[in-house]
Amino acid sequence: MQVLKAGRKQRGQAIKLTCTGKGNGGGGCGAKLLVGQYDLYNTHSSHYDGSTESYITFCCPECGTETDVERTGFDIRGTRPSANERARMGHEPSS
Ligand SMILES: [Zn+2]
Repeated sequence: MQVLKAGRKQRGQAIKLTCTGKGNGGGGCGAKLLVGQYDLYNTHSSHYDGSTESYITFCCPECGTETDVERTGFDIRGTRPSANERARMGHEPSS
């Protein structure tokens, strides 16, 4: 790949993602986000047969919805916001 025009320097790596709520019941707000490796975190789900699956997930700062993403190829450095933190996102008191 060739860089035609250099972008601004990023701290770490980042990818553009859309808030869709995929893997988490849908209902994303559709916000387009530049998601960095510190915004992504691993989540796991357990199945009835005892197996577990792991996902890479981010939480939209606009609405608090979590979206699962494909493998990004870079290190995941974020930590999952608590349920309280997620619930507060997108529900700021209106002024
Ligand atoms: Zn959203």
